[in-house]
Amino acid sequence: MNINKNYLNLNDSYLFSLIAKKVNEYKQQNPEKEIISLGIGDVTLPLTPAVINRMSKAVSEMGSAASFKGYGEEQGYGFLRRAVSGYYEQKGVGLNEKEIFISDGAKSDLGNILDIFDVNNTVIIPDPVYPVYVDTNIMAGRKIIFIDGNVKNSFLPMPDEELYGDIVYLCSPNNPTGAVYTKEQLKIWVDWALEKEAVILFDSAYEAFIQDSDLPTSIYQIDGAKNCAIEFCSLSKTAGFTGTRCGYTVVPKELERNGTSLNKLWLRRQTTKFNGVPYIVQKGAEAVFSKEGLAQIKDNIDYYLENARIITDTLNQSGIWYTGGNNSPYIWLKCPENMSSWGFFDILLSKYNIVGTPGVGFGNNGEGFFRLTAFASRDNVNKAMNRIQQSGSPFINI
Ligand code: PLP
Repeated sequence: MNINKNYLNLNDSYLFSLIAKKVNEYKQQNPEKEIISLGIGDVTLPLTPAVINRMSKAVSEMGSAASFKGYGEEQGYGFLRRAVSGYYEQKGVGLNEKEIFISDGAKSDLGNILDIFDVNNTVIIPDPVYPVYVDTNIMAGRKIIFIDGNVKNSFLPMPDEELYGDIVYLCSPNNPTGAVYTKEQLKIWVDWALEKEAVILFDSAYEAFIQDSDLPTSIYQIDGAKNCAIEFCSLSKTAGFTGTRCGYTVVPKELERNGTSLNKLWLRRQTTKFNGVPYIVQKGAEAVFSKEGLAQIKDNIDYYLENARIITDTLNQSGIWYTGGNNSPYIWLKCPENMSSWGFFDILLSKYNIVGTPGVGFGNNGEGFFRLTAFASRDNVNKAMNRIQQSGSPFINI
């Protein structure tokens, strides 16, 4: 018996535990200080009334023999797939409900999708990046090519003639950088993938934060994308479903490789290894896409974006370089005075009692950068930014 030795190649994911350890030590030494976290990628506002009402009704339905539900379709109930399809219609994207697969969140599907690809495929991953793309490919033993995100390309890496690979991950709006690809940039990626017969795995978990109507909220708004891209989306950040768990993955019928439909392969994979998302959760998710539900989540997203604006106002005043914050809950800043990510973490904690996430935790190119998130209460964001502004020369000579 042999284990999967690829697992031994994984780096320990010590980022958030090291942050917690440092914060706890600081708290013990300074019990009187109030620490504000702008570091966590989890929502802080509760589920909206439309979702709660529909889920409560679904709970009652489960208690009556006439409306009880057992196993559902693995790919999701028709009512939710039609609701998602209606949501895409509003973006100008036509999808057949058979192209939509309901999931228990984007993270699972981003990992599971690799089942339908050969382990000998080469994978292209931007750096810095959401660590799940890297680790799931290391687990499978795939060859990874990193492409550089940096100040020069505003953390939006693009393909060049020499770039070759079979699978590429794109995340827009991006975690951790908050950067958003334009339609023109995505068109270049789509044309590249079509030419190389590669497949784009497009993570649009934060699409609902996009405010600028010129920016794409789905890769299928780009001509040709249905022939080369799979899209992963989630209700986690859109509608506060991080603990409730629901997302969706789109595999277009047009998408074929080696003369085989990827939609067919994914359906086969899901019906074999997945038994669907709870009925109660899917009913709550359906309510998100109702007129009332969409208005309510918009209020929550506006709340987070206003938090982001308050944070970026302070950065603007301090002359600090950053991406994100406009169409994203993440703000990715260059550490002042050429400090390292962890050096800035320590200063932010000890001088301002604010916790953020060191950029180096998202890849080598994150060194010297830092992620702040807008997932906090307005009070805490105001308090945190006041502390920085009142310090006289914010961030300079710290
Ligand atoms: N994709 C990105 C870029 C994320 O940041 C996250 C969560 O933080 C996910 C996917 C996973 O979301 P879910 O909660 O749907 O699994």
